[in-house]
Amino acid sequence: MNNPTMFQFFHWNYPDDGNLWNHCKEQAARLAKLGITHVWLPPAYKSARGTWEPGYAVYDLFDLGEFDQQGTVRTRHGTKDQYIDCINALHEHQLQAIADIVLNHKHGADETEKMGAREVNIENRKEMSDKIVEIEAHTKFTFPGRKGKYSNFIWDKDSFTGVSEQMDNRERIFLIQHNMGDNWDQMLDDEMGNFDYLMGADIDFRNPFVREEVKKWGEWYIQTTNIDGFRLDAVKHINYRFFQEWLHYLKDTFKKDFFCIAEYWSTKTDAIINYCNALGKQSLMYDVPLHFNFCNAAQKKNDYDIRSIFDNTVLKELPDSSFTFVDNHDSQPGQSLESYVDYWFQPLAYALILLRGKGFPCIFYPHLYGAKYDIQKGEEKIPIEIVPVPGLDKMMVVRQLLAYGEEYDYFDHPNTVGWIRRGIEEKAFSGCAVLLSTGSEGNKVMELGDRFAHKTFTDITGNRQEKLTADEHGKATFLVNGSSVSIWILEEAAGLIQQHLSG
Ligand code: CA
Repeated sequence: MNNPTMFQFFHWNYPDDGNLWNHCKEQAARLAKLGITHVWLPPAYKSARGTWEPGYAVYDLFDLGEFDQQGTVRTRHGTKDQYIDCINALHEHQLQAIADIVLNHKHGADETEKMGAREVNIENRKEMSDKIVEIEAHTKFTFPGRKGKYSNFIWDKDSFTGVSEQMDNRERIFLIQHNMGDNWDQMLDDEMGNFDYLMGADIDFRNPFVREEVKKWGEWYIQTTNIDGFRLDAVKHINYRFFQEWLHYLKDTFKKDFFCIAEYWSTKTDAIINYCNALGKQSLMYDVPLHFNFCNAAQKKNDYDIRSIFDNTVLKELPDSSFTFVDNHDSQPGQSLESYVDYWFQPLAYALILLRGKGFPCIFYPHLYGAKYDIQKGEEKIPIEIVPVPGLDKMMVVRQLLAYGEEYDYFDHPNTVGWIRRGIEEKAFSGCAVLLSTGSEGNKVMELGDRFAHKTFTDITGNRQEKLTADEHGKATFLVNGSSVSIWILEEAAGLIQQHLSG
């Protein structure tokens, strides 16, 4: 069994050319060769106002680029047929396709409705006015372009807990008063008082008709697309009981477990773990605290004690549930949650998630393919270029072929840490020694064991040019440049790596 690795096949500013599904289909063979096992695709359903964002402003879950709605038939990424072709191509290369499931909110209602509501304090959603006012809000979704195909369900004010509306030149949040409930749904954490409400029209999962509709949709979606698993968006804003019920329903219907990762965007490791436990550990959890440790280490450079890089992370506290990443579409430059890991540290961060035994790692599209786009700051247009992470493709192949077996850490210096993997019999030439420095050039004596006696090592990253020879115990003094990473592998393995990198 190979090490699993996810690839996030998009970024926020990927061009709006309707070609992402085709591009992904064309890249399936290469990704498989590099060792990718799972591909996370962006939301496939129709967004409000067409194609201006990657699909998180959900309008119609049943429109995968099939109906003329919101001014377009295709989505930002292509048509329904192209999406299904893309998933089929991934399957031909034994890659699992992971769907991005956005269920917290809807945008772009077809009609407004009048309703009673209480205005809430944006900073603390538990604080609200005593007075119920009548508002006219965007809560009625009739999907006139789809005309009832696949589902006749009409979403209205009873389907939502709250809305935000632009009034008097500012955003105001209202809690809808209706017979399904007159307060927010219960959340596990008290961030913002109650963080049920994130944006748009917030879906009310206490409504049994809504729960049935979303179950029916899940069943339709799997049957239609043959997707293998889910990336659950914004779970911090959704009662875990809904996902328990939804996942149980799909498991029962299809008689299989679906691979699942949940995005709980928080630096509070305890809150992430609480949610994971509440879901009965059915889902991996984004290791957001690890991402922020990477940001912090990148900023502080040699003032950061790199031995503490895993402190307070999901990887440390609940390693089997940790989904690790360096950056994603929310943290990239220009985003509201921008927290981009500084360029020099990215190869080190990838070594830390790809070459160790714990954590399910994910690679971000621009880090392999690069990206160029503009962001708007007021009147100003700022050009952004993300260049590929040096050596990332090599690290991916080392993960696939060599990073196996017992792990031993040499976390004994505030700026230079290393670890070794002793390899396993089933993987030819497997095992490696990794050394990284956040300060000056460094070295470390590390021992891989008798199997590596008198063997010659080479740094696959190319950062160090010399070859090293181990002693009779497989021990050698490994080297690394300043602010850099070196990945020492058996010289015999280098040819194998090259085969996977070419073509
Ligand atoms: Ca919510």
